[in-house]
Amino acid sequence: SRRRKLSVDDYVQGVLSGNRTILAQTITLVESNAPRYIEMAQEVIKQLLPYTGRSIRIGITGVPGAGKSTLIETFGCMLCEQGRRVAVLAVDPSSSVTRGSILGDKTRMDRLSRQPNAFIRPSPSGGTLGGVTRKSRETILVCEAAGFDTVLVETVGVGQSETTVRSMTDFFLLVMLTGAGDELQGIKKGVIELADALLINKADGDNIIKAQVAKEEYNRVLHYLKPASEGWMPEAYTCSALTGAGVAHIWDIVERFRHQMQSTGTFEKRRKSQVLEWVYTMVQEHLQTGFFNDPNVKKIIPGIEQQVSEGSISATIAAKELLAAYEKG
Ligand code: GDP
Repeated sequence: SRRRKLSVDDYVQGVLSGNRTILAQTITLVESNAPRYIEMAQEVIKQLLPYTGRSIRIGITGVPGAGKSTLIETFGCMLCEQGRRVAVLAVDPSSSVTRGSILGDKTRMDRLSRQPNAFIRPSPSGGTLGGVTRKSRETILVCEAAGFDTVLVETVGVGQSETTVRSMTDFFLLVMLTGAGDELQGIKKGVIELADALLINKADGDNIIKAQVAKEEYNRVLHYLKPASEGWMPEAYTCSALTGAGVAHIWDIVERFRHQMQSTGTFEKRRKSQVLEWVYTMVQEHLQTGFFNDPNVKKIIPGIEQQVSEGSISATIAAKELLAAYEKG
């Protein structure tokens, strides 16, 4: 490309001044897998770090069709109209294999994408959940440095993506549907336990009563679960992303959550542990990749697996031999 190459300082100053084009270019830099760009991106992030952390990070999940993008559009526009600056990101580790990016598709959030206070970024494509995670976490930081005070991170429930988004957000919202007695269908086991609030969407028209009933049912279920956030009791609510009914209330809940969590110090505590957790996840991934790519390990893996299947060596001995091969290298 003939585009002028930006320096670290160009990126940093551009982001801090809220320049949209440079913000997008910085995210592209952060999303790059090329070693020299990774190095540059890290320098940019290092310089932006003092300006990060001041947003509320809200994770949003739900089965396809639950109404996530409609909700983000309605909720996001409402926040923008209140003068808030809203960044919408997506985490979709499947985006490179399936129909492009399932999430964060601009055409699905037409109204929001026209708001001057909103910034929508589709899921980084490419490979592993680990890779997507790093990119998304760093993109959150870049958006915060650019002055966005509300970051919405949408995810479709592919593999571990809900847990991942939970680990990078302050507040986690599960968007649900009400259906003919099959409320618990389509929601992965354990996902309810991650949520700080359940939102029964499409509570409009003939669906209002059913949604109310579902809400009560979920409130009973929630009573027996361990809360996702220390000191916060998750509740179920109804809303309609289509008509906007109940959507303003979501912000009240988020504000109450933030206020309560900040006053007990839980908010900061969680953020700190999230960063540490991230650090060790990256270390683990790095070690694991190094291990499985090690030529000595690769050489003996088939034989070891064979012996374990035959029962001629124990699992412990197999692990020891693999590690010995790795340490030799
Ligand atoms: P997502 O896959 O979770 O992002 O779901 P979408 O936002 O794409 O919504 C799926 C479908 O449900 C679309 O046809 C929406 O128009 C519709 N929908 C979303 N929210 C509501 C709602 O509150 N009420 C009704 N009646 N339909 C809705």
